[in-house]
Amino acid sequence: MIQPEQQRRAYLEALGIDVWVPRDQADPDPEIEESAVPASSDGVGWPELRDAVTACTRCALHEGRTQTVFGVGNENADWMIIGEAPGAEEDRRGEPFVGRAGKLLDEMLRAVGQAREKVFIANILKCRPPNNRDPKPDESAQCRGYLERQIQLVQPRIIIAVGRIAAQLLLDTDTPVGRLRGKTHALGDTPLVVTYHPAYLLRSPSQKRKSWNDLLLAKRVAAGAAA
Ligand code: SF4
Repeated sequence: MIQPEQQRRAYLEALGIDVWVPRDQADPDPEIEESAVPASSDGVGWPELRDAVTACTRCALHEGRTQTVFGVGNENADWMIIGEAPGAEEDRRGEPFVGRAGKLLDEMLRAVGQAREKVFIANILKCRPPNNRDPKPDESAQCRGYLERQIQLVQPRIIIAVGRIAAQLLLDTDTPVGRLRGKTHALGDTPLVVTYHPAYLLRSPSQKRKSWNDLLLAKRVAAGAAA
C-alpha cells in the first residue's frame, strides 16, 4: 500500500517540484458549506442526454462550435471533475481538458490514484465560448441542466471544481478561488472541493503544492463519504 508521503513525493516529482519541501500543515479541517442548486427533474439516461447536448441550440454558443464537448470517463466514477468550458483544442477534439493543461490534470489525478479513465470529466458549458472568454450567466443557466443530470447519473462521492470560473459558478459565489480551496463545500448532497485550473498551474508552478493538498483533501472526503 502506498503511504501518503510516498504518494506526495511521486506527485511532486511528476510535476517537476523539488521533493524536500515540507508538507503544508495548514490544511483547515473540512467544513461543509451549503450551496443551493436546483435539482433537475429530468429523468433521461446517458444516450438521450448525449443526443440532447449534441443537438442543443439553447444558447448562442451553438453557432460557433465545431462540436459539443459532452464529457468523458467512467459513468459510475467516484470522482467527478468539473471545469468551466471547452477551449479551442477541446472544441476540435470533442473532449474536455486536453492539451498541456489536460495532461497536467491527468498527472495530478494519477498521482492520487484517479487515472483519467477512472473519473468523469465534464465542463459547465458544453460549447466553446469565442476567444475563450468567460461563460455568460445566461449561457451557464441554459447549459446547467445537462451538468446536473450528469451529476445525478454519475452519483460521484466527490466533485472537484477546477478553476475559478467553475468553482464560482457551481457554488454561486464571487469569492476568490484561493479562499474557496482548502475546505469542503457541498453541491446538493455531494461534497465539493475546489482547486486551481491546470492552465493556471502551468503559469504559476509554485501553486502546484496547494493543488496537491486539494487533491488529498478530496481523497479524504471521498473516503469519508464512502464509509
Ligand atoms: S453551451 Fe450548452 S446550452 Fe449553449 S448551445 Fe451548447 S449545449 Fe446548448
